Amino acid sequence: MKIALKLALLCSLAANIQGSPGNPSTGLPSSSIPLKIQANRVLSNLREKSSDLEKYVYLRTIAESNEDLYFATLISNVAEVMPIVYTPTVGQACQKFSQIYTSPLTPSRSNGLFVNLSDLGSVSSVLDSYPSKDVKCIVVTDGERILGLGDQGANGMGIPIGKLALYCACAGIDPKNVLPIVVDVGTNNEGNLKDEHYIGLRRKRERGEKYDLLIEELVESVKEKYGESCLIQFEDFGNSNAFRVLEKYQNTACCFNDDIQGTASVVLAGIIASKGITGMDLKDHRFLFLGAGEAGVGIANLIAYAISDETGCSIDEARKQIHLVDSKGLVCEARAKSGEKLAHHKLPYTHPASTDLPTTSLLDCVNSLNPTALIGVSAIPNTFTQEVVEQMANNHANPLIFALSNPTSKAECTAEQAYNWSGGRCVFASGSPFAKVELSKDVIQTTFGTKNAPYRHKSNVRVPGQGNNAYVFPGIGLGIIASGATRVSDKDMLIAARTLAKEVKSTDLSSGSVYPPLSQIRDVSLKIATKVAENAYEEGTATVERPKNLQSYIQSTMYDPEKK
Ligand code: NAP
Ligand code: MN
Repeated sequence: MKIALKLALLCSLAANIQGSPGNPSTGLPSSSIPLKIQANRVLSNLREKSSDLEKYVYLRTIAESNEDLYFATLISNVAEVMPIVYTPTVGQACQKFSQIYTSPLTPSRSNGLFVNLSDLGSVSSVLDSYPSKDVKCIVVTDGERILGLGDQGANGMGIPIGKLALYCACAGIDPKNVLPIVVDVGTNNEGNLKDEHYIGLRRKRERGEKYDLLIEELVESVKEKYGESCLIQFEDFGNSNAFRVLEKYQNTACCFNDDIQGTASVVLAGIIASKGITGMDLKDHRFLFLGAGEAGVGIANLIAYAISDETGCSIDEARKQIHLVDSKGLVCEARAKSGEKLAHHKLPYTHPASTDLPTTSLLDCVNSLNPTALIGVSAIPNTFTQEVVEQMANNHANPLIFALSNPTSKAECTAEQAYNWSGGRCVFASGSPFAKVELSKDVIQTTFGTKNAPYRHKSNVRVPGQGNNAYVFPGIGLGIIASGATRVSDKDMLIAARTLAKEVKSTDLSSGSVYPPLSQIRDVSLKIATKVAENAYEEGTATVERPKNLQSYIQSTMYDPEKK
């Protein structure tokens, strides 16, 4: 046989032997190990790390070197990995972001793209430096209000990176289609400004016209470069800008603010689902919020919209059963009339209050307003005190106690406290995850007795639900992207909430949770996406021709690292 022929034969033989010495052109190790097994390896390495931040850094190195493996790991155990990739660990990662920054030479999904003030006039060319040209989903922050941790400046980049990882893992948005952005306009965080490692602009925050121009240029450049249907999620802006920016762009761009609208949707879902425990319809609740910022007003607005949609009453009428407390006390008419300049977003909640209505203490508000649901979105820990929770539980068989502030250190109370102080009867949900709570039988019996507790739980174990925005925003994004919608509407948020609430099963409720297990999140996202896309076709904002079977079409677009 001629030598050339022999060689060709040998090569074709080698190519047919699986696991034989690998393809010599790659120079990679010989054995090709299935992605699933590799993901298990990453998980077991992860469990060896002694701190959550170390786990975060380890996962980030995986994301940088092998994105499919990173996502396979995240998908294989969402409940375990999400708290590392997102809240609460992402909070620490942001605080240390400059310290753990790996100084890549080009922007990427796992390191993000920074647009700063000096880019005014050339934002479009900054976008050009991002390797992927097919961008369909952007998360952008200006770093001013990172979780409940305040101004982190450019270090806030951890948030868009983390949120987009959830888009990919939880809803199957292709990582090639996502772009994390920090708009760096300076920071008022003195620690950052003094830190020699700080990677952001070393100046105080720009608040004037330049700020608005930079955001405008970014939105316009995105529309021009990636099209009208490119989704922009505004994230963790300080509340003076968050409401303003959303109002400015929600009717002219495909955008939403997750802190205002996504939070509202996920919390509303929990309230709707809680009917399975309390027997109460949404319209029959009275709500008291601690916190009247983005989350508080966002949730309140969506609740009012949902009640109005259900009962036919006006939104203003529905708002009468919602009261907000801010840093100065109860938001009420007396304050507005006293000449105090209340923020625009609080004005719809300045209800007339009797003159003796307290304006400072939360406990007094609980006593006088008799809420059935207490929602904590103040980022001030320990504010749902024992007295407050006990009073809620004295007034109602199954009060809703949602301590939503993030990260865990900012929660208004812990799951354990809420259950213990309410004799195990409250419906608890949090923003960051809490472990299940085992109540001593004494607590359940001696605090309140059992006669007035129609709670469905037979067991003394409670599994607190996490009102994690990740239940809704990835699915909403998938629906918007799959239908090519050019707008995100309030109706989308309501639809997502109702769809999520339907996914809460009696097994979840009987353990105390008003959310489904995180392990079902891709399925939940697909259902939300289908409903949101349907709505886009109904509202006339879709630009992709409607497929015959919307759900299976959307499913077919979902990124799955195992199936590549
Ligand atoms: P924000 O816009 O800054 O609003 C914070 C609100 O809390 C403001 O209304 C502020 O009052 C009020 N506040 C501050 N100190 C207070 C005090 N001592 N007593 C009563 N109210 C007080 O922030 P946000 O975006 O709404 O976020 C708030 C928290 O919610 C954060 O921890 C965030 O992580 C969390 N959150 C959770 C979820 C979730 O669980 N899925 C989603 C989004 C946000 P003033 O208006 O008077 O300043
Ligand atoms: Mn946020």
